[in-house]
Parts: sequence; C-alpha cells; structure tokens
Amino acid sequence: MASVLVTGGAGYIGSHGVLRLARDGHEVVVVDNLVRGHREAIAAVERATGTRVELVEGDAGDRALVEGVLRRRGVRDVMHFAALAYVGESVERPLEYYRANTSAAIGLLEACEAAGVERFVFSSTCATYGEPAAVPIAETCPQSPISPYGRSKLMVERVLADVAESRRRAGGAFAYAALRYFNVAGCDRAGVVGEAHDPETHLVPIVLQAALGLRDRVTIFGTDYATPDGTCVRDYIHVEDLIDAHVRVLGALRGVEERAYNLGIGRGHSVREIVSAAERVTGRRVPVVEGPRRAGDPPRLFADPGKIRRELGWEARIRDLDEIIASAWNWLRAHPKGYA
Ligand code: UDP
Repeated sequence: MASVLVTGGAGYIGSHGVLRLARDGHEVVVVDNLVRGHREAIAAVERATGTRVELVEGDAGDRALVEGVLRRRGVRDVMHFAALAYVGESVERPLEYYRANTSAAIGLLEACEAAGVERFVFSSTCATYGEPAAVPIAETCPQSPISPYGRSKLMVERVLADVAESRRRAGGAFAYAALRYFNVAGCDRAGVVGEAHDPETHLVPIVLQAALGLRDRVTIFGTDYATPDGTCVRDYIHVEDLIDAHVRVLGALRGVEERAYNLGIGRGHSVREIVSAAERVTGRRVPVVEGPRRAGDPPRLFADPGKIRRELGWEARIRDLDEIIASAWNWLRAHPKGYA
C-alpha cells in the first residue's frame, strides 16, 4: 500500500493525524524537525496501534530530503501540518513564520511535484480571514489576515491554487484542500497522544494547567469586548473531529481540484465559558485574573461549517464543550510534564 506523508506528525495536531491514519491501517511516514514536535508522540502511536511509523527528522521544506522520502515510500497523499502557529510570536518574529510556513511549503510542493504527489491537504487557519465583518464566517468571507501568521498561511493557499492551475494546464493530477481551522482543542479520547507545548499559549491547556496547580492563575485577555460576557468568543473543535475531516477530505480529492473548508463546530464559547467548563469537568477552582486585551484578538470568531456538510456530508460530532475539555484534562493529568 502507498504511504501517506504527514509533515509535522510529531506535533499536537499532526500526531492525532498519524494516530488516526495508523488506526485506519495506512502506512505512514512522518517528516518533523522536532523543533516543537515530540519523538515520543510517534512512539506512543506505534505502541498503541502495533504499527511501525517511520519518523524522518528534518524540515518539511527540505526539498531533497522530502523528495527522497516521497519516492522511497511511493507517496501519493500528503497531509501538511508542519508549521509555527502562534499569532503573537509571528508578530515578534515574522521572518521565522514566513520561513517555516511559507518558504517550507514551497520546498515541500517542489518535492511533491517532482515525486508525483496527487493529493495534498493543507492546514490553513481562520486567521486568514483577519477581522471578519460578520460571523459566522463562511469560506466566501474575504481573506485579509491581520498577522504574519495568517499571511504566512494565506500565501500558501495562493501558491497551492497556482500549482493546481499549472497542473490543470499540463494535464496532470494534483488535488488539494485548504482546511481553515478554528480553535483546535482536546486530545485523543483514548489518551494515546495529546497536547504538549512549551511554552503553552492556548486557552484550554492553560486553564487546565491552572486547575491542576501547574500554574498559579489564568489571565483573561480582555473583559470589555462587545460580547455577552465581555470576553472573546471562539469556535472550539475537538482535534479528533478535525482529523476526521482531513481523512474525509483526502478521500474525496480527485484529479485536479481545489477545495477550501472551514473546520469548526459553528458555535462560539467565551473565555469565561471555557473557565466554567473546566471547573465543572475538573471539580476544581480555576484561579482567574482579568487582564488587558491581547493585541490582534478579534472579539468573536466562529465558523459557518455548512460548506463541508453540504459537499461531503461531514460535520463535527463532539459538540459538547465539557467533552472536549474532559479529553484534554485526562491527557494533562496523565502527562503533567508533557511527553517528558
Ligand atoms: N486567552 C486568554 N488567556 C490566555 C490565553 C488565551 O484569555 O491565557 C484568550 C484569547 O484572548 C482568545 C482565546 O482565549 O480570545 C483563545 O486563545 P488561544 O490562544 O487559545 O487561541 P487563538 O484564538 O489565539 O487561536
């Protein structure tokens, strides 16, 4: 059987992708530079599934390295997760983001073209929409990102469109999907892989670390937004659902085509709602302080997930916030120091 290449497969979302593909019986090869990923995540997948997952340590944008892997493993399908993904950090260190997210994608796509990859699923982001005029956000909403992170991803969407067009003209095959993630949260419900960032900046793990006593408190970034409780509203999608969408989309890609889908549940939760849910799930108090707004945070973001439902019949199944939080809590309690 041909292998699937998963870039960034040792990271939070990518490792959930590797786990799912391995569970489904696919041969998987991972390219990950282990800058933010964990070798142990791959080992955990191997143990849990009894399969061998090859981990190639290197950059997804290293054309020669990746082309060699693609040819050796006969890869036709790629899931490209490898990226830097912190909005705030991208403002401070834009060149690192354009290098890791934009340039690397070009090297990867050169390798894919040379080695005859036919299907490509790209981790894009709702940050490509910037501050939308209205919510829910549909795929037709203009994409005008307000951070280097969002721009670094949008550029890749544009490159992919041009590559597909060139392939169409040449009569070759190249189908891709840009999946625009909203807020990905939760962990594998069987506890095989999870979320381990250092430093952690995402709300759900931060709140749970505070519940566990691993940090003193959570700072709520802004309580004066024009939202029902004054705090920011986001669309939290469970990572297993997110990966399920990748599998569905990859299976649907044919010939030369371009698809773009929002991945969210279509409902927003405020920061305070996340804190309350964490207190319910953990049975512990989460110490909170109210702080100023974080630069670049739009007040309300949630998806219109109708397009992928209409076209592929796919929708998120885990719709209960407490279930999302509980899966992250189970992982954190079992791995308070991450994979270490
Ligand atoms: N947030 C917060 N305190 C934190 C981390 C995040 O209030 O310590 C808020 C943040 O302002 C945003 C929401 O939680 O409104 C989700 O932030 P996160 O960084 O998890 O994801 P983002 O929406 O930036 O992709």
